Amino acid sequence: MSSRDARRLLAEELAAAAAAYQVAVVIPHCAECTKPCCRLDPLVLELDWKQLKALWQLEESRTAFDRRLTSGEGPEEVRAGAGLYYIHGKVCPAYDEAHRSCRVYDRELKPSGCTDFPVYQDRNCVIADLRCEAVDLKALATWIARSVGKGYRIVQSADEEFPFLVSLSVRRVAGRREKSFLPGPPA
Ligand code: SF4
Ligand code: SF4
Repeated sequence: MSSRDARRLLAEELAAAAAAYQVAVVIPHCAECTKPCCRLDPLVLELDWKQLKALWQLEESRTAFDRRLTSGEGPEEVRAGAGLYYIHGKVCPAYDEAHRSCRVYDRELKPSGCTDFPVYQDRNCVIADLRCEAVDLKALATWIARSVGKGYRIVQSADEEFPFLVSLSVRRVAGRREKSFLPGPPA
């Protein structure tokens, strides 16, 4: 197996492990969460125009909306930047407070950032956002280690600028070849 294939398989394994952790540990906690992320405080939601228009049920054109924002008459929770929109400080309109759930959960409209929060795969890492109270870093590291097997070790590091973002990086243990995604000898 080439190194590229091995990296791809490892990435797939980590993505599956992160998704499984969300399903088994995070989502069951959402109904009783004391600080739901969908209230967007302290979290920031990043949307493109299509998503903003649909979620905020905007009727006007993008140009008219941007003009309204610039003049200070737009929704105060929305900021524009680099072609995107950033929402903070007000509950997402798709959040159902009564049922503690997302109304667009299974729809294409749901932003990828929502799907990824609070645990997602990035190359050979799983990133955990500790602003979610359901994340138990130690248990997550054990979860990932179990998924990839004994041929790897987990190295933990926090983002310098945003220390609530923690990387669980998967590093190969020298001399171990116990999983199918380990690269084989050169052909
Ligand atoms: S912060 Fe975590 S537990 Fe709370 S609602 Fe969001 S994903 Fe669920
Ligand atoms: S789109 Fe859904 S998951 Fe994302 S912030 Fe709004 S309610 Fe929450």
